[in-house]
Amino acid sequence: MANRDKATNQLNDFSKTQGKPDVLTTGTGAPVGRKNATMTVGPRGPVLLQDFVFTDEMAHFNRERIPERVVHAKGAGAFGYFEVTHDITRYCKAKIFEHVGKRTPMAIRFSTVGGEKGSADTARDPRGFAMKFYTEDGNWDLVGNNTPIFFIRDPILFPSFIHTQKRNPVTNLKDPDMFWDFITLRPETSHQVSFLFSDRGTPDGFRHMNGYGSHTFKMVNARGEAVYCKFHFKTDQGIKNMTGSQADQLSASDPDYATRDLHNAIAEGNFPSWSAYIQVMSFEEAERFRWNPFDLTKVWPQGEFPLIPVGRMVLNRNPKNYFAEVEQIAFSPAHMVTGIEASPDKMLQGRLFSYSDTHRHRLGSNYLQIPVNCPFNTHRRNYQRDGPQCVDENQGGAPNYFPNSFTGPQDDTKHLECPFKISGDIGRYNTADDDNFSQVGIFWRRVLSPTDRDHLIDNMAGHLINAQDFIQKRAVSNFGQADPEYGRRLQDALNALKARAQSGVTANL
Ligand code: NDP
Repeated sequence: MANRDKATNQLNDFSKTQGKPDVLTTGTGAPVGRKNATMTVGPRGPVLLQDFVFTDEMAHFNRERIPERVVHAKGAGAFGYFEVTHDITRYCKAKIFEHVGKRTPMAIRFSTVGGEKGSADTARDPRGFAMKFYTEDGNWDLVGNNTPIFFIRDPILFPSFIHTQKRNPVTNLKDPDMFWDFITLRPETSHQVSFLFSDRGTPDGFRHMNGYGSHTFKMVNARGEAVYCKFHFKTDQGIKNMTGSQADQLSASDPDYATRDLHNAIAEGNFPSWSAYIQVMSFEEAERFRWNPFDLTKVWPQGEFPLIPVGRMVLNRNPKNYFAEVEQIAFSPAHMVTGIEASPDKMLQGRLFSYSDTHRHRLGSNYLQIPVNCPFNTHRRNYQRDGPQCVDENQGGAPNYFPNSFTGPQDDTKHLECPFKISGDIGRYNTADDDNFSQVGIFWRRVLSPTDRDHLIDNMAGHLINAQDFIQKRAVSNFGQADPEYGRRLQDALNALKARAQSGVTANL
């Protein structure tokens, strides 16, 4: 039994918890007399249609899969708690932040973004960092990433952007022209693409990366005063990344590396944790801020909007069953609670619609009745009824219309959203030129070390070289606008790769 880790030994561990095996049954609970043979006329068949033991099993097997998530298909999950370490009630009245020491149960799902359900954990990609907090005011989902920014700032581009990460509709292959064409035509992607091709694009598992709510949200306190805020979850394990070649090797030798690493750490009692912070911006500061504070391609500088400590998230339980608790967990930025509200961030507004919509498609209109999605720390009382897979008591004999005179659930103005004044001319505003490069330049010059810059250039050139020349030129021009050295070094690296390929050809002649 040498070298068998906790994940490898799962079945042994299960077996040890059992006494005598249970009696095997059909889906209806009827005991099964013989499991290893269909019911046939004579030993050579045919099979009888009356064999419910067979048809019950086969029909269920045929329906085992639900639609794969269009994005974030490959992932791993865990459970734990969020504990408040610092008082932020001056900003936020949400129950989760009620007092120092308060613990709220939570679930998390980490994922890659572009690949299919069977793709490698170590692919170069942002990582999803989606948290669900089971609060007494309902479930609050913070559906973030391991980057504080995103590729685009208008959600109408989202389906196109994701298509460029998927397979070419004819070849069914990943297509570097598709990816780099879109990226270079929409230079607001430059910031996130720079993160992606740095070593943070290949984190060492899920435990050694930060999580960010990324969007700007609004926090409201008990006096009804509101501020804008951002959420940061910094890994207590320390940031650890892989080089591109380490990640590539693992993609071949252990495509489930991050899933295994997370499972084993928790199973061994080595519970990963993250320290949570917020950044706060007043409405007046938002008016004066030199960038659009709701632009998801930009950060709020930490020097001006310092990180304020809030709490700690600890993961101490593995899923009891992957499908039930991870494949079916349904996060949505629209799952907000009293005290936490949306900002005008266009990407957030788009996601408020699309995430719940996709769950209704994947899991059905009663997806919030699935145990992992249920607001189990409170009750769910409303006027919604029926629908497919209505598995709870369907709110029994309570009235199914509102208003009513029969003690049905009532609204309560203490949960009203904070009033918010907004005006402007309705239009479709193309934000393509909204300062795409200054923060990318800061990232290149101030944040990356010389080694980080070397890796970024190598990783990017190694991928970009597969796109057509005119697209490569556009990329060099874009990154050169962030910093001339960035563009020049990218061009040099492309030239070197081309020269190497050319000399290889010549050597083979
Ligand atoms: P700061 O110098 O105050 O913060 C820079 C932050 O960058 C660090 O706190 C760290 O955040 C993060 N960081 C460090 N090394 C890397 C790396 N190799 N790759 C990605 N991120 C790294 O600067 P500002 O807040 O003024 O931001 C300057 C630039 O830093 C931004 O333009 C942005 O590119 C980048 N950045 C900013 C963040 C923010 O929220 N303000 C967060 C992450 C990056 P952390 O500990 O969260 O990793």
